[in-house]
Amino acid sequence: MNLYQADLHIHSVLSPCADLEMSPGNIVSMAKNMGLSIIAITDHNSTLHAPLMRRLAENAGILAIYGAEVTTREEVHCVCLFADEDSRADFQNFLEVHIQKVPNKPDILGYQVVVNEKEEIIEEVEYSLHGALNVGINELEAVVHAMNGIFIPAHIDRPKYSLTSQLGFVPPDLNYDALEVSINSSIESICIHNPSLKRKRFIRSSDAHFIEQVGSVTTTFRMENLNFDGLLKAIKGIDGYDIMLP
Ligand SMILES: [Zn+2]
Ligand SMILES: [Zn+2]
Repeated sequence: MNLYQADLHIHSVLSPCADLEMSPGNIVSMAKNMGLSIIAITDHNSTLHAPLMRRLAENAGILAIYGAEVTTREEVHCVCLFADEDSRADFQNFLEVHIQKVPNKPDILGYQVVVNEKEEIIEEVEYSLHGALNVGINELEAVVHAMNGIFIPAHIDRPKYSLTSQLGFVPPDLNYDALEVSINSSIESICIHNPSLKRKRFIRSSDAHFIEQVGSVTTTFRMENLNFDGLLKAIKGIDGYDIMLP
């Protein structure tokens, strides 16, 4: 088994709230500098930067997972990760059909641009990616798993856009693969307040919006080879695969 450092929640310049320095090229360079082996690009309600990120990361020896941070009807953020280009494209279609299309106001809400490897803008998303989908969290979970993806409610301990802030609890019937907890909370104390979570799986990621945040919070993955199947096994903790938290 090998140990790999992963940061599975990173926003690129496509996210309206991310810094304009968060180009795919800059993110991959920073990930390399920080010694990361696995990154996931999780822009708000869009996967459009994932294919370029995958190509650039491969050249740097890094596995870039296709993903998005999706806002459900309840306004809960969920990190959704996918194995391949086919499922990413299917999921992108799903997002475009179900997001409530409010026009973006770049000056106020932030720019939402797709760039190429030369950092030239090739597309601008015209509806606000801040919006929510007209899809509830249980339905989103079912869709992600039907596409063989990984479903992780994001930053569950934060006072905004989290299970805790929107629902007040982690629904016992929600079929998530892991729960993301920010670096400021102790998992022990979360489990003391929520005993039903004791045997659940937890990860930590940076939720980077600025370049210096990439890799500032990571989870260590123990797995054989650098691939999506190994990542899934480690998150589930099966066959000797595992995750270790800072
Ligand atoms: Zn979020
Ligand atoms: Zn985020």
